[in-house]
Amino acid sequence: MAAEFVLEHSPEEHLARCLDRIEREDGRINAFIELNPRASEEVREAPHGRLRGMVVGVKSNINVRGLRATCASRTLENYVSPYDAVVVERLRREGAVVVGMTNMDEFACGSSGETSFFGPTRNPVAEDRIPGGSSSGSAAAVAAGFADAALGSDTGGSIRNPASHCGVVGVKPTYGLVPRHGLIDLAMSLDQIGPITRDVRTAALLLEVIAGRSREASMLNASPEPYSQRLTPDLSGVRVGFAREFEEFTAPEILGVVKRSLRRLEAQGAEVVEVELPSLEKALPTYYLIVFVEFFSATRRYDGRRYGHRIEEVCGAEVLRRILLGSYISQKEYAGRYYRRALQFRSLIRRELLEALEKVDVLAGPTTPKLPHRLGEELSPLEMYAYDLLTVPANLAGIPAGVVPAGRAGGIPVGLQVHAKPLQEQLMLNVMLAAEGRE
Ligand code: GLN
Repeated sequence: MAAEFVLEHSPEEHLARCLDRIEREDGRINAFIELNPRASEEVREAPHGRLRGMVVGVKSNINVRGLRATCASRTLENYVSPYDAVVVERLRREGAVVVGMTNMDEFACGSSGETSFFGPTRNPVAEDRIPGGSSSGSAAAVAAGFADAALGSDTGGSIRNPASHCGVVGVKPTYGLVPRHGLIDLAMSLDQIGPITRDVRTAALLLEVIAGRSREASMLNASPEPYSQRLTPDLSGVRVGFAREFEEFTAPEILGVVKRSLRRLEAQGAEVVEVELPSLEKALPTYYLIVFVEFFSATRRYDGRRYGHRIEEVCGAEVLRRILLGSYISQKEYAGRYYRRALQFRSLIRRELLEALEKVDVLAGPTTPKLPHRLGEELSPLEMYAYDLLTVPANLAGIPAGVVPAGRAGGIPVGLQVHAKPLQEQLMLNVMLAAEGRE
């Protein structure tokens, strides 16, 4: 099976087509914050690797030398990256070309793509809707055909949520499988970089290029595996778990699409079994407590001395809310009231997920509890956080989770989310492949 990216045109021609589409349509979609002015030069000099000619968008919280890693915030509006993140180095070494820096929620804090200092992104598939977030521009760029793939980051769903809403594939790898060196932290104990693509095969290929140990980052001692070569949709003997609790929290129109998708997995030989995740409802408050504390700590470097602006003076409402709450919880921590309890719940949720994954090989279910809202519709912070209910457990547990288009509800894409045991990315991708392309 081909383990490299295949192009219809020459790399130069292909890039020109992507740039042309961006020029015509991105005024409306707003997927990119900045384009790479050297892309055409770089494509001519690109090495003949496995990704030769692949046009890639990079989320604006990942360093790409010479481009701005703004995190879609005024805080870093003038920050030009002095180096390439390890993942970007690895993409370039295989011949991919960075076309630009994608839009996102400010500092990756959000689920809709609306909190960017550079304006919201539109969902290319349903233009009156949000694309999801926080990797809003990365998912939109792929869905709109501006790029073949994009890198996103996922702390609590930021790759999977927009992938689901935009009808593309997104993978959050096992924590520590992909080097975080060069990623600007939201919450370092949860953040992972991963691919967003149009199909499972390309996601597998990208993942095998960016995964694996790096000298620069402390991480799992895992070697990259040839996922794309070992992909198979044959699920004979694979046990797929569906949690009763998924049903409780998910809108019926989403459940309908997801259940049809499970029937297709059965048609490929899988056995679908019901499992229980009784602590699922605790995942959201646990996640947000941990994020507030870790994010508060990460933002202390933006005090105005190094990057120009003091974050509290220029950031948006959601980022400020998290800084204030993180500061409050940290002050109270001597009593162990919030953060320590959140860490206890984190262990409980992790244990429960791993126990469920002892009974089955993967868990499959919905990605978000509801469909994306209309752009401009006002949501309360708690309503916004509620989008993350089904995606944060994977981050809390450090396990891999991927999303593949499962169908549509009222014209809006719905993604099937697949969870696997730590480092079982291959099996997860196989299940995603079996569900793919059958809308
Ligand atoms: N929506 C979640 C949050 O706001 C997830 C963000 C992310 O994964 N970066 O924290």
